[in-house]
Amino acid sequence: MTSKKRTIAQRTRVAVIGGGAAGYFGAIACAEQHNSVEVTVFEGTRQPLYKVGISGGGRCNVTHHCFEPEALAEGYPRGSRELLGAFKHFQPRDTVAWFVRRGVKLKTEEDGRMFPVTDLSATIIDCLQKSAAKAGVAVRTGARVVAVRRVDDAASSQLELELKGGERMRFDQVLLATGSSPQGYKFAEILGHKIVPCVPSLFTFSIKDPRLTQLSGLSFPAVRLALLTEGKKPPEQIGPVLITHWGLSGPAVLKLSAFGARQLYASRYQADLLVNWISDHDIDSVLAEFHAHREQHPRRAVVTGCLLPLPRRFWERIVSLAGVDKNVTWSHCTRAAMKQIATELTGGRYRIVGKGEFKEEFVTCGGVDLREVDFGTMESRICAGLFFAGEILNIDGITGGYNFQSAWTTGWLAGRSMGTASVRKSCDSSVQ
Ligand SMILES: Cc1cc2nc3c(=O)[nH]c(=O)nc-3n(C[C@H](O)[C@H](O)[C@H](O)COP(=O)(O)OP(=O)(O)OC[C@H]3O[C@@H](n4cnc5c(N)ncnc54)[C@H](O)[C@@H]3O)c2cc1C
Repeated sequence: MTSKKRTIAQRTRVAVIGGGAAGYFGAIACAEQHNSVEVTVFEGTRQPLYKVGISGGGRCNVTHHCFEPEALAEGYPRGSRELLGAFKHFQPRDTVAWFVRRGVKLKTEEDGRMFPVTDLSATIIDCLQKSAAKAGVAVRTGARVVAVRRVDDAASSQLELELKGGERMRFDQVLLATGSSPQGYKFAEILGHKIVPCVPSLFTFSIKDPRLTQLSGLSFPAVRLALLTEGKKPPEQIGPVLITHWGLSGPAVLKLSAFGARQLYASRYQADLLVNWISDHDIDSVLAEFHAHREQHPRRAVVTGCLLPLPRRFWERIVSLAGVDKNVTWSHCTRAAMKQIATELTGGRYRIVGKGEFKEEFVTCGGVDLREVDFGTMESRICAGLFFAGEILNIDGITGGYNFQSAWTTGWLAGRSMGTASVRKSCDSSVQ
């Protein structure tokens, strides 16, 4: 029987480049959907699913407890529009069900992050590896792909992979799931795709400021942060903030770093930050509270009586920097000093001087331009038979399980679509 006469399902050979979260999910979805398709994962290292292992401090923050696609999509500074449609097919509720069907229960923490009940990322790795083996997926580790080229002849149109060492193989369809590896971007680029330049996302802010020194460890439940960048509506976030020994951290800072990633990169991480430490107040409401308090407790010392929900040590610092001596009572506190304190609390200006540490989750923004990918199938709009999933795409989420969810969703969609005939035009480029 010639290859032309065989049915597409009988002859389809699928290669997945990259044995991470997206690659495994895509490979399993494809093999489970199409019994007769031959699926092989090529993982360059000896340790597939390495990032799954180290994520969430070794507990693997699998997804986020948010089952409304619209609300979930808001957690993606890049890719929210494209993922919104994709989440209608596979969202965190499906992720939870997928793992439960395979014997892995997930639990939700107060902040919405979801982990395996075992609190061990090994549980997720084990589940993915067993599911892949059960579905008949072949996994080749230590198999680094060094080139992908298109080979078109009269009978077929295929993609050829070349491994380190020289081995060459042809496949009908290829899923590129190489994460943020430069090699993966290069494959995509030479096959005709535009790569949006990569810059870091999810980081803390380095700030050297006398208002913060020696206050590390103090936390604030609801701070409003606004990044002051020229000529644009400043990105803003409200949420918990933590003072660290190098500046500011906490969920609101990480979110702002993601939404302002490109602006901050362009400014070399030098920017002004407007901080309202008590986001449900503004300067007028704070001044009104001060005046009412002054009427009622004229003899109380300003420094000892913080009437706002703020850590005592922070209040003392701000009062002292406003020039209010520790013996000054409310009745002797000048209007100018009260105004300065209120301004500091609701609109303090801080200078970001660098990108700080965040060791728990490393993510880059940038990658394959989303306009060139069909989010119904995850197939390239440029090169037939080429699919994408995971971090190789110009998608990134805020911290809390959003990045893995994007890998599961795009991997699942790609896997379900592969194994059937590609209808797109082929590209004529080759990659070395
Ligand atoms: C420390 C850390 C903690 C994190 N914590 C979280 C978290 O708690 N929650 C969350 O949602 N996200 C977290 N993330 C992000 C999350 O890990 C990634 O978004 C996710 O792993 C992306 O999956 P991926 O499959 O696209 O890429 P990857 O996991 O990077 O997998 C890509 C794979 O491709 C392989 N590869 C690359 N090039 C080649 C080649 N040429 N040939 C063969 N193989 C190749 C790589 O070796 C790798 O195994 C964390 C990331 C880090 C680094």
